[in-house]
Amino acid sequence: MDFFPIFMDLRGRDCLVVGGGKVAARKVGLLESAGAQLTVVAPQLCPELASLAGEGRIAHQARDFDDADIDGKALIVAATDDAAVNRRVSELAQARGLPVNVVDQPQLCSFIMPSIIDRSPVQVAVSTGGSSPVLARLLRARLESYVPAAYGRLAQLVAGFRERVKERFASGEQRRQFWEKVLQGEVAELLFAGRDEAAAEVLEKALEENDFDAQPQGEVYLVGAGPGDPDLLTFRALRLMQAADVIVYDRLVAPPILEMARRDAERIYVGKERDNHALSQENINQLLVRLAKEGKRVVRLKGGDPFIFGRGGEEIATLMENGVNFQVVPGITAASGCASYAGIPLTHRDYAQSVVFVTGHLQDGSVDLNWKALAHRNQTIVFYMGLHGVGVVAQQLVRHGLPETTPVALVQQGTTQNQRVLITDLKHAEQTVRDEQVKPPTIIIVGEVVELHKTLKWFNPRPGANPRPFGGGARI
Ligand code: SAH
Repeated sequence: MDFFPIFMDLRGRDCLVVGGGKVAARKVGLLESAGAQLTVVAPQLCPELASLAGEGRIAHQARDFDDADIDGKALIVAATDDAAVNRRVSELAQARGLPVNVVDQPQLCSFIMPSIIDRSPVQVAVSTGGSSPVLARLLRARLESYVPAAYGRLAQLVAGFRERVKERFASGEQRRQFWEKVLQGEVAELLFAGRDEAAAEVLEKALEENDFDAQPQGEVYLVGAGPGDPDLLTFRALRLMQAADVIVYDRLVAPPILEMARRDAERIYVGKERDNHALSQENINQLLVRLAKEGKRVVRLKGGDPFIFGRGGEEIATLMENGVNFQVVPGITAASGCASYAGIPLTHRDYAQSVVFVTGHLQDGSVDLNWKALAHRNQTIVFYMGLHGVGVVAQQLVRHGLPETTPVALVQQGTTQNQRVLITDLKHAEQTVRDEQVKPPTIIIVGEVVELHKTLKWFNPRPGANPRPFGGGARI
């Protein structure tokens, strides 16, 4: 180990930064956020530092560095572009045993600064021992996405309970088990969902009731899995999928996404294909309640966004009636994902000032929609579940005033390596679906913006890279 990582308390301590440029300003910013009292020695200050000095947040000595500047300082940073000054600061500080950092010159440093993931009071510091600051930054970026933003609040919450937990559990092993449950279970999830008071109550109860051995309370996470490309999952979706005991999913969830769930999680397939529901909606609702009551953490994974043609509302209504805790995690809806990957902006200053998402699902062979409100120039219409009724849809739009030549895009298996984009118009849409054997899932985009596909298309799928992006699954 070249450098030993420690965390230093700088609150109220006098620290010195030599140099007044942008690099110095960055270090000043970091040290200030740790509560240090800062003196900056530099003939001139960059605008950022000048405004800090103007506000009285730093003390500025407008001159060259003087040996006596290091007197009484807890920590020193040299960030000038004068190599001789930097060396001098380092030598003086090291002779007195004061911690010193010279920016970008590890050989002159007695300490180096890490890349920081700040979830105060939780801190994660990354260092490459000065060998590659860029690598440290890249690693930091990965960790940023991995450590939930609310970890700071979680740490603050549990800090208030530490003493009581110590009193309550005599053995270290019991305490460890208690905290593992708290930090990975209901308390943490409530907090991540922004329900801090409920989290504190559950923690309080767990401590009072002596019941940390009791059956844990299950929860349901209604998670939007996005349209198909696993990279379009949210961080929260991924984290919950990796924590879940059970994943309940349907046909629209692509297998590569399912593979990202915890290896040993139970997977339950619940349908649905047109006219071939593996499980009725009512049964799905009841299944979720039953699994949660068994104490399981259930991810109900849905294609796209759970609140857009996803019947998410019905599922959580049942959970609520049965007193089951839940969270809803939004996902990228098919309209948004497919349009992006097809190079079709859904709105555009010149062509469309509004966009509507509509179901094209047929009831008894007809589509019951307000056609007059839909058939507007300057409006993009996106049909979900519209493949079956595409003929009726196109006919009605023309009948209510849209030209037959209005362009239409059919995006099949959008955002996956099997994405197909077919461009047609209202007159030929039904025929195109038939001739090209377009299959679900397909979204239909109607409007002038479709023309932009020609110039803006950018995504080049590699068919065969992922032979089975949708469909199937072990039936329950
Ligand atoms: N909740 C989902 C929509 C469910 S309705 C969402 O927000 O995306 C199912 C319809 O969504 C399908 O009939 C199809 O029209 C559309 N769809 C979902 N995923 C799709 C995909 N990858 N490519 C094209 N259409 C998709």
